[in-house]
Amino acid sequence: MPYDDLLADIAADMRTVTDRGRVADYIPSLGSVDPARFGIALCTADGSCHVAGDADLPFSIQSISKVFALTLALGKVGDALWSRVGREPSGSAFNSIVQLEREEGIPRNPFINAGALVCTDVHLAGHSPREAIGEILRFVRGLADDNDIVVDETVARSEQEQGFRNAALANYIRSFGNLQQPVDAVLGTYFHQCAIAMSCRQLALAGRYLMLGGRSPGAGRIVTPQRARRINAIMLTCGHYDASGDFAFRVGLPGKSGVGGGILAVAPGRGSIAVWSPGLNAQGNSQLGTLALERVSAALGWSIFDPV
Ligand code: GLU
Repeated sequence: MPYDDLLADIAADMRTVTDRGRVADYIPSLGSVDPARFGIALCTADGSCHVAGDADLPFSIQSISKVFALTLALGKVGDALWSRVGREPSGSAFNSIVQLEREEGIPRNPFINAGALVCTDVHLAGHSPREAIGEILRFVRGLADDNDIVVDETVARSEQEQGFRNAALANYIRSFGNLQQPVDAVLGTYFHQCAIAMSCRQLALAGRYLMLGGRSPGAGRIVTPQRARRINAIMLTCGHYDASGDFAFRVGLPGKSGVGGGILAVAPGRGSIAVWSPGLNAQGNSQLGTLALERVSAALGWSIFDPV
């Protein structure tokens, strides 16, 4: 089936689903998003891009930004990053603090909040928070070839006001010496990166370097093929909080979700797919987004566990 028809079919079917999950409401600006929204975009390795539904409406990318923050942190310090952050699934919630005590301030992986805070700390070294945020924004704009991508300042401010758990995580990591920049600067930068707003189209475009062995069609080489492979591996094993195993089981693609209801999924050598539906399941992943990706990967035979 042609991509456009497949996506249109999925978007139409998703409109009829009544159990859409619960919109994140820990800050008002996320809680007020219309739960009926659904968008999907798919960019193929040969350069075409297909969309359906609300694919051009920006939403808060939240934890999907952790993929870009990890890429930048690896660009700064290379494999030395792995002495400060692990790469094992956590089996715990995104904002869990318990494992940090056992593991002496070394977060389990870069895609839980604790690990993302360490990546932000690395990225921040030698910069002011404003410069670091500017660099992340330039990075995603370059990847998506779209200068209209911005930080939603209202979301960033609310994150800051409500960010007690993240502040606790950052201070706790700092107590083990695994944050080097001032805690406030790390938190401010982290909240802004989570508050970047992007549409499904922009996100699918930005994700192309991960399906193309590290090369972005517009921005050139971003990471080596080995690094792209490894980032994909961490997305597969750790990209959906404590439901990463379930996502691999159902969809079979590296993916990263965010509490704004977005998911970026990568079919290496084939496609970069972004989906958005604000309602979340019990583990904080987009309920219909997961369902839609399950449909895409089954219809196209794109699960990485399918024979080629
Ligand atoms: N800004 C959110 C937090 O740090 C991100 C959560 C998420 O998308 O997982 O709590």
